[in-house]
Amino acid sequence: MAFLQGLDSHIVIVGCGISGIGAAQKLLSHGFHNVRIIEATGRSGGRIRTGRLGDKIVEIGANWIHGPSQENPVFRLACQYNLLDEKSMTEENQSVDVGGHPPFVPDLFSSSGKRLSPELAGPASALFTGLLQECQEFHASGREPVPSVGEYVKREAARRTAEEWRDEPADTRALQLAMMSMLLKLECCISGTHTMDDVGLGAFGMYKTLPGLDCTFPGGYEGLIHCMMKELPKDIVSYNTPVKCIHWNDSVQRTSPSGRTFPVLVECESGETFPADHVIVTVPLGYLKKHQETLLSPPLPLSKVHSIQRMGFGTNNKIFMEFNEPFWDPDCETIFFVWEDETDLVDVVPNVEMSWIKKLFGFTVLKPTERYGHMLCGWIAGHESEYMESLPEAEVQQSITELIRRFTGNPTITPKRILRSQWYHDPYTYGSYTYVAKGCSEYDIDILAEPLPLKGSNTKPLQVLFAGEATNQSFFSTVHGALLSGWREAERLISHYSPSSYSVSLGSKL
Ligand SMILES: Cc1cc2nc3c(=O)[nH]c(=O)nc-3n(C[C@H](O)[C@H](O)[C@H](O)COP(=O)(O)OP(=O)(O)OC[C@H]3O[C@@H](n4cnc5c(N)ncnc54)[C@H](O)[C@@H]3O)c2cc1C
Repeated sequence: MAFLQGLDSHIVIVGCGISGIGAAQKLLSHGFHNVRIIEATGRSGGRIRTGRLGDKIVEIGANWIHGPSQENPVFRLACQYNLLDEKSMTEENQSVDVGGHPPFVPDLFSSSGKRLSPELAGPASALFTGLLQECQEFHASGREPVPSVGEYVKREAARRTAEEWRDEPADTRALQLAMMSMLLKLECCISGTHTMDDVGLGAFGMYKTLPGLDCTFPGGYEGLIHCMMKELPKDIVSYNTPVKCIHWNDSVQRTSPSGRTFPVLVECESGETFPADHVIVTVPLGYLKKHQETLLSPPLPLSKVHSIQRMGFGTNNKIFMEFNEPFWDPDCETIFFVWEDETDLVDVVPNVEMSWIKKLFGFTVLKPTERYGHMLCGWIAGHESEYMESLPEAEVQQSITELIRRFTGNPTITPKRILRSQWYHDPYTYGSYTYVAKGCSEYDIDILAEPLPLKGSNTKPLQVLFAGEATNQSFFSTVHGALLSGWREAERLISHYSPSSYSVSLGSKL
């Protein structure tokens, strides 16, 4: 009986990214019929966003299914909707386990316009990969000899290279150290952080990888969103409706025409209001950091505020460039740029306005060529990336053209056109994705995911729930982490009204 009454609950989901869509799908499939999604922008998908450069499809946001194998719900859905190519679905592809760092066939260039041999870069790459693996192990051991990944890598690299590369010629050793600076910048992009000095050493190993060689969606990642949206009622989303404030704990009384009262009232910028029994908040951590003081009334408890402040949310942007002819080798998958003056392991530039371009570590080559033509995707993280967003596109194109000409020694290379992402200036994201910052731990993610009112309160339970990639302890920063978090909060409500049938099982310890 309680379950049947529960199905009448009014549930509002704030945000129509994959976590919000996933939560809505699960609730509806379990019989909840008063579900509404409120989305600030005019589209679904959030940080899953497919765009176009000329007639080519490019991913402005998420690009890969990380770890495409059976444990990954995004992979399972993509297979179900038939959105992947055959190779990505093979058993062989699913069983490859590379720990989140797929090997690339590289083309290496240095700042004096020289081509570097992969053999020369080998020792730097091997040492760097080994050090990152060591960093991942500190989480399980519970030790943290220094506070951040950056500090550990720099300290150990300096110590070990002084011993192990003692007999190398000075110029070879200098180039290998410069190569490690480039790898640190690449790692900033993967982690979505300004510097690896900001990433907590003890927390780094919280992120779990799944088996499977990362794959992409030939027709665009947004195809997944379209398929999921087709399964929801047509008018379930209120688009272009930014939520201003979630009034909870009966702070604003609202009674329905049938005489029902609701503990929560969702107030939008437009003045429109939505009464609710439960609200699932899926806004990005970047948005929460900016608006945590006003998004809820009464405001968020201090424990949550502190966790929001402790956790990291940084910027990683892409710059797509199309060329008439490739300047890279036919089998090349990644182009790396090594600055010869960066021999002291640096991943930040001394003056952002003057030298932001030095933060761009290189490009991935978009494959297959039949689909993309000659297209590169440049990667740049941190404050340098945020500054890049503020420049006119023509200036960005000019700076990158000069960079490529300098490193290749070819003064004629000219891109046809470019397109860059601007995630930091997106007012509903304020960055790209979550990282575990220095000083934060899994408890911060648990606290962030904890529903309101907090345990021990005698007011109506589960008024405000929290989902989104930042609330997933093992898979934060990913699409599958976001989807699992939406399912987790839907299951929390399902289990609340029917405790014997369901249990909250995914992701969070709460
Ligand atoms: C450049 C980039 C590359 C990435 N690459 C990958 C990748 O290759 N693989 C991978 O797995 N992941 C990747 N990610 C991460 C992945 O895209 C995200 O983790 C995931 O899409 C987040 O989903 P979400 O539902 O948690 O949040 P979002 O998709 O951000 O959805 C939140 C929604 O809330 C809305 N919103 C915000 N504020 C309000 C408000 N006040 N009122 C109403 N609505 C609001 C937003 O508009 C948005 O639609 C990448 C992200 C970026 C930015």
